Amino acid sequence: MKSPQRNSLPLSKFAMHTITTKPWPLERAIDEFARVGFGGISIWRDTFEGRDLTKVRTQVRQAGLKGVSLVRGGFFAHADKAKRREALDENRRCIDEAQSLDLPAVVLVCGADPEISLAESREIIQESLESLVPDAQAAGVRLGIEPLHPMYADTRSAVNTLGQSNDIAMAVNKASGIMSIGSVVDVYHLWWDDALPAEIDRAGEEGILQAFHVCDWRVPTRDFLWDRGLMGEGCIDIPGIRAQVEDAGFDGLIEVEIFSHEYWKLDQNLWLEKIARACRENV
Ligand code: ZN
Repeated sequence: MKSPQRNSLPLSKFAMHTITTKPWPLERAIDEFARVGFGGISIWRDTFEGRDLTKVRTQVRQAGLKGVSLVRGGFFAHADKAKRREALDENRRCIDEAQSLDLPAVVLVCGADPEISLAESREIIQESLESLVPDAQAAGVRLGIEPLHPMYADTRSAVNTLGQSNDIAMAVNKASGIMSIGSVVDVYHLWWDDALPAEIDRAGEEGILQAFHVCDWRVPTRDFLWDRGLMGEGCIDIPGIRAQVEDAGFDGLIEVEIFSHEYWKLDQNLWLEKIARACRENV
């Protein structure tokens, strides 16, 4: 049973992830998101490869969009130490890019290595974040741990609940004395967890509730990566989770992040219209 929608939010309270309209090049996506009335944008790294970042930043600003996040850094957990160092270098590049693009945050998919235990992977993730704090602070960029659904615990992320993410974020923040690390709530990854409401409250109290991502869980799900649903067509109580994050003090833009081979086949202007309606009616 889903919660009733609290109130319909204007599109200016939503940000689009560039991957949601993957067929569009970045310049087109920026123009279209602004034209339809979205308030912000989260930019995936592949979209600006080979681009002049100053030009991208200027286009985003002139379009009137608020930059939310760079997507994505992470993949820290490796049994191999050389690979861990490479991951840190790659994440420093992410931090630099976010700064150049005037994006206040980097979203992290923290990684997992099936050669080692999930607990060991989480230790490596925490150590890696500790070493990145000075870089993040110098750049004025916040790092957001995005816990992923446990179906991705083999290789994508050993952080699978908001509780684990909050624990790591607060351990790193307390050790450094700087609030550089936050938690990202993505409904797709966390909707099933009965500890979610309590952990959302805790993230709010600690001041680390950094971002809120929406899409839906299709029933049945045909592909565990590329078949995310549009808000309202699946089983997630999105209005209920939105109410929880708002009550915990979250007042940032709500990010629409949908990977879908089905929807990428549509005319992307029609797809964007469908998204806009779902944002108003089903979030
Ligand atoms: Zn997400």
